[in-house]
Amino acid sequence: MAQGLESESRKLLVRLRDVMASGEAGQARLDEIVRLIASSMQAEVCSIYLFRDAETLELCATEGLQQEAVHQTRMRLGEGLVGRVARKRQVINTADAPSAKGFRYMAETGEERFSSFCGVPIQRLGETMGVLVVQGLTRREFTADEVYALEVVAMVLAEMTELGAFVGDGAALRARHQDSVMYRGTVAQEGAAGGHVYLHEPRVIVTNLIADDPDAELTRLREAVDVLRVSVDEMLTETTTVNADQQQVLEAYRMFANSRGWMRRMEADIAQGLSAEAAVEKEQSLARTRMEHADSYLRDRLHDLDDLSNRLLRILTGQGGQTGAAMPDQPVLVARNIGPGELLEYGKTLKGIVLEEGSVGSHAAIVARAWAIPLVIHARGITTDALNGDRILVDGEQGIVHLRPGETVKKAFGDKIAMQAKAQARYADIRNQPAQTACGRVISLQMNAGLMADLPSLESSGAEGVGLFRTELQFLIRNQMPKRAELSALYARVMDAAHGRRVVFRTLDIGSDKVLSYMKPNEEPNPAMGWRAIRVGLEKPGVLRMQLQALIRAANGRPLTLMFPFIAQLEEYRAARAEFDKAMARERRLGHPVPEDFTIGAMLETPSLAYAPDAFFEDVDFISIGGNDLKQFFFAADRENERVRRRYDTLNVSFLTFLEQLLGRCRAMNTPVSFCGEDAGRPIEAVVFAALGLETLSMRPASIGPVKHLLRRVNLDEVKTVIDAARAQGDQSVRGAISAYLRDLD
Ligand code: PEP
Ligand code: MG
Repeated sequence: MAQGLESESRKLLVRLRDVMASGEAGQARLDEIVRLIASSMQAEVCSIYLFRDAETLELCATEGLQQEAVHQTRMRLGEGLVGRVARKRQVINTADAPSAKGFRYMAETGEERFSSFCGVPIQRLGETMGVLVVQGLTRREFTADEVYALEVVAMVLAEMTELGAFVGDGAALRARHQDSVMYRGTVAQEGAAGGHVYLHEPRVIVTNLIADDPDAELTRLREAVDVLRVSVDEMLTETTTVNADQQQVLEAYRMFANSRGWMRRMEADIAQGLSAEAAVEKEQSLARTRMEHADSYLRDRLHDLDDLSNRLLRILTGQGGQTGAAMPDQPVLVARNIGPGELLEYGKTLKGIVLEEGSVGSHAAIVARAWAIPLVIHARGITTDALNGDRILVDGEQGIVHLRPGETVKKAFGDKIAMQAKAQARYADIRNQPAQTACGRVISLQMNAGLMADLPSLESSGAEGVGLFRTELQFLIRNQMPKRAELSALYARVMDAAHGRRVVFRTLDIGSDKVLSYMKPNEEPNPAMGWRAIRVGLEKPGVLRMQLQALIRAANGRPLTLMFPFIAQLEEYRAARAEFDKAMARERRLGHPVPEDFTIGAMLETPSLAYAPDAFFEDVDFISIGGNDLKQFFFAADRENERVRRRYDTLNVSFLTFLEQLLGRCRAMNTPVSFCGEDAGRPIEAVVFAALGLETLSMRPASIGPVKHLLRRVNLDEVKTVIDAARAQGDQSVRGAISAYLRDLD
């Protein structure tokens, strides 16, 4: 690059910084900036167009065009050369603008005299915020160095826009991060909550964009890259905890961290006057733009580069990762996605959770539901728009999220929360009443749990017992394998807290999306159908044995109920039960008191078990239907993949007929059966299950009130008649017919 232009560019950036520091209003700053750029580039015209809304660009400042056109001239995205730069996110550089493809003459600007045109997108981290344009009388293309200098300036403008530098009187623009935004996502846990944003992975904020001393910045950059390289190498050598996929990603990191091209581009940015962090961000922005047009392989690699850039920014700015910001008052967690272990670490203090991705069937969603924390998933773009501490309202009934809401929305939301409180009061009134239907049948409502903190809900929800205690949650919240003594003390406390009510302990169900950080990861193409749950317990019985011993010791002679997850065939149940018998014999030998009264069940989570030989139904003490997994295998629809999961209704007649046959077999064999998947906690589903003959349902504590309320109002014989009629007339799902029947109850 020409030395003269480089130092000219540096001078320009320093002047821009002075404008920023000037304390002038937003519009005055913009006017000054276009003047400076025009004079520095020796161009007759310099204009800045910013987005007024997602589809409209507005001329916000100009040097050289008619001043009357400012805030008057607007174009749609894709319209004219400026609109095309914004849509394609690419530079347009032409000697003869009027003849260029897409040119549109804006009479009010008086631009007909100008021939040359160079427009560059003003963009930040893959998001376009506007267009910077220079125009000239002479018919010439701008040189590559000039275009590059404009890109550097545009990057600084993007950051300034992001920081709200052009907001204020007369600017007719509002800072993006002050706008109210509404997201329509998907409901994953009902309820309404208001609070403040807490970002799971806070963005790095770059405030020093421009640097006076390029040499010092180069040194900072190189030192930071050295630290980065060492950390990537360290991650790679810790191969015991890294699986093949992660290894591949880390290799790509290493490749980028050592890439001369990446380094050279950032060095050139610094030479133009950017600070080290601004240079990293500029290259990150360009990579994000490229990501959109890339094929999936390249996109993955660019994603790696993006992540690496974030790491580099954290090193340069000293801003930490997850621990960056203090938890605000009434925190609402905002994240791209989150695993159950990470969510458990945050604890129940969260008021709400909003995810850009996520799925209703995931274990993170189950944890949120167990805690009755409103959860909305698929809120696209929220991690980019939200800042730590922003006010946020989560409407888990509608799947809607309001970020930085206005007064009217806040008021309406307050009403919603009041209504919710009213419903809660109604449920509290029937807490100690039985779930007895209008036709006189009594359904046992139990709750699902997994943490000590869930136990107080036994009292507050009116549950008759714990129908599913997910023991793996205790393993997920730790950084190392818990010891037998710890587990036994914990299980004893759970039994104590239950005050004699039955607790069904499910033995460890790991694998699929429940990954223990301290266990060697297992490389599998399809973890949900892979080495998980009882399959792990039987093949590597160490942990299962330890857990069974802990449970027996915890019971200390009291009755004990446990069940094995994911039993797919008779032999698995027999092998697991043999482990229990062995553990009992061992404890007896050691002189420990063992439970005289014990019941050992199996979770039915694969269709195969419904067709097991009669011997299974005779051997097993009870069956608990794990509808979450059962449904995913019945419909061959991944419970974590929203796209396919939502296609299949639980009230689909095929699924109900399957359940009915299973219940018929259980009845014939006198095998107690219950249902503990998430669907048991949905009132309409619960009523249908009860009508099919299920007498025990286990659900998250917050569902007990609504389910009981509805059960007490229905006649199950009538419900069964409606189901049969819908099935006979060929309905795919009985939901429509049942909903109509329930509406008529009112
Ligand atoms: C189920 O699959 O329905 C179940 C209760 O187990 P989990 O959701 O923990 O897999
Ligand atoms: Mg399951």
